[in-house]
Amino acid sequence: MARHPHDTPTKPPQTPSKTPLFPGCVGVRWDAGDAARRWLGSCSGQVARSFTYNAAMNISDLISRRATDIDASGIRRVFDLGAQLKSPINLSIGQPDFDVPEPIKQAAIDAIRAGRNGYTVTQGIADLRARLTKTVADEFGWDFEGPNPEHSLFITSGVSGGLLLAMLALIDPGDEVIIADPCFVLYQHVIRMAEGRPVFCDTYPDFRLTAERIEAMITERTKIVLINSPSNPTGVVNTQAELDQIVELCQSKGIMLISDEIYDVFTYAEHRVNGTAPSAAAKGRNILLMKGFSKTYAMTGWRMGYVAGPAAIINEMTKLQQYTYVCAPSMAQAACVTALDVDMSDFVTAYQRKRDMVVQRLSEVTELVVPGGAFYAFPKVPDALGCPAGRFVEDAVSKNVLIIPGSVFSQRDTHFRLSYATDDAVLSKGLDILCKLMTP
Ligand code: PLP
Repeated sequence: MARHPHDTPTKPPQTPSKTPLFPGCVGVRWDAGDAARRWLGSCSGQVARSFTYNAAMNISDLISRRATDIDASGIRRVFDLGAQLKSPINLSIGQPDFDVPEPIKQAAIDAIRAGRNGYTVTQGIADLRARLTKTVADEFGWDFEGPNPEHSLFITSGVSGGLLLAMLALIDPGDEVIIADPCFVLYQHVIRMAEGRPVFCDTYPDFRLTAERIEAMITERTKIVLINSPSNPTGVVNTQAELDQIVELCQSKGIMLISDEIYDVFTYAEHRVNGTAPSAAAKGRNILLMKGFSKTYAMTGWRMGYVAGPAAIINEMTKLQQYTYVCAPSMAQAACVTALDVDMSDFVTAYQRKRDMVVQRLSEVTELVVPGGAFYAFPKVPDALGCPAGRFVEDAVSKNVLIIPGSVFSQRDTHFRLSYATDDAVLSKGLDILCKLMTP
């Protein structure tokens, strides 16, 4: 039987031994133990070689530190707890409870039927980019025109895709990225994947990430400040003045500001000025602005977002997208042109009402920073209960209510995240149970 070139073993299997390789050298050595002898023997014959090689192969030794360093146990524990419940009152979900509006679905179906199923250009289809650049130019005065425009914009596979590409394009090993504590779970991981160092800026108890708080965390290694307003998990909305100050600080220190504004549409009336939500892009020109379609149109599975910013950075990010995601989903890109004309204000008003219900009920039993946007609240577990948030969440789960412990988003375990993106009756029932649990 002919031997396939790939059958040739290239390295002996590694078997840890407790004997030091060199006298005085502490640690594990790799020696010619049983596994290696099987490997050596197999080199002279063909019989069962691949069996012995595979038998000695330790798959977990092959997995990168990049992957194993990620601890997903916190969020997995929540999923495991949830899986035990038959029909939980689920206040843990990070997506709207309404469905994608019909015209958007139809546009995606039409695109598929029209054969728009292949790759698109990496930066995204021209008509969607044109609509989005016009919106950003009109709203913030950014410049996308001419042969060497100051700004550029490209379509990403969700804001998550944009975040990873930004980190890959900007971070060199050891560069620091300042993020709020608490913040969206993905941030610290994309930073680490790019070999950066997340620096947590404590924002308790009011959850406001301000220029003053950020400035205290800046070192000579700070490359990026990543902000998120309205915030996941707190729902806090920065004022325009706060955002302007952060923009000025980053500009003066030569630090790139990334503004994740994925929940911008869910900015409630009291935080809008002339109907407009505060944005870092109003003052900032040298910033990366990230927005998405996932939350606004309830299309989290369609994987659609976009990034606008300095053309030189967008060009690098687009290059990296070419060799990773390639492009955002083609039919979803086509449908998002239609989405831009769909009015979501009734949904937002309904969520504002749910927010009011949450604030009214929870404020009676605990400390709660009033959320001004998104669809989350981040209440404190009352001190009087004398238990960490993780324990409180387990108690809530035992009463059939699913919420997420603050430790998933934070270095602290004192609060929990409640998503009110659910039916009013379900929300009300969940609040009844939580309020009872929080009343000692
Ligand atoms: N940014 C924040 C603050 C989020 O909460 C989420 C999703 O929960 C994302 C980004 C990711 O969104 P996308 O679905 O666009 O990747």
